[in-house]
Amino acid sequence: MNDNDCLFCKIVAGEIPSKRVRETQRVLAFRDINPKTPTHVLVIPKDHYADVADLVHADPELAAETLAVAAAVADDEGVTGSGWRLLANSGPDAGQEVFHMHLHVFGGKPLGPMISA
Ligand code: 5GP
Ligand code: ZN
Repeated sequence: MNDNDCLFCKIVAGEIPSKRVRETQRVLAFRDINPKTPTHVLVIPKDHYADVADLVHADPELAAETLAVAAAVADDEGVTGSGWRLLANSGPDAGQEVFHMHLHVFGGKPLGPMISA
C-alpha cells in the first residue's frame, strides 16, 4: 500500500529519481540525497509504514528482509570489514523527517561517537 503524499513512496514508484543500489521484490535501497558519510544508503520497505514499530508489528518478515538488505548493501559497499552503522529515526526526539520507515546505512570512514550529547 502506498501513500500519495509520501516522498519515499514516490521514489519507489519512480516518480522521483533516485540512485538505486539494491532491490528485492519488497525492499529498495538507494543513496541518500545528502550523504553524511562516504557510504550513506537508505533501505526501505516498498510498502508504506511510518516507522520501525509500524513495520515490525504489521509484517515482521518484511522487517527482517529490510535488515538483510541493509547488511547486503554494507557488503556491496565494501564496508563489512571496516565497519558500518545502522540507524533508524522514529518520531520527533529522533528528528525523523520522512515518515516512511527507512534504515540509514553509514560507512566508509570512522563514524565517531554513537550519539552527540
Ligand atoms: P530521517 O531524518 O527521516 O531519518 O532521514 C531522511 C533522509 O532522507 C535524510 O538523510 C535526507 O537527506 C534524505 N532525503 C530527503 N529527501 C530525499 C530525496 O528526495 N532523495 C533521497 N535519495 N534522499 C532524500
Ligand atoms: Zn511512503
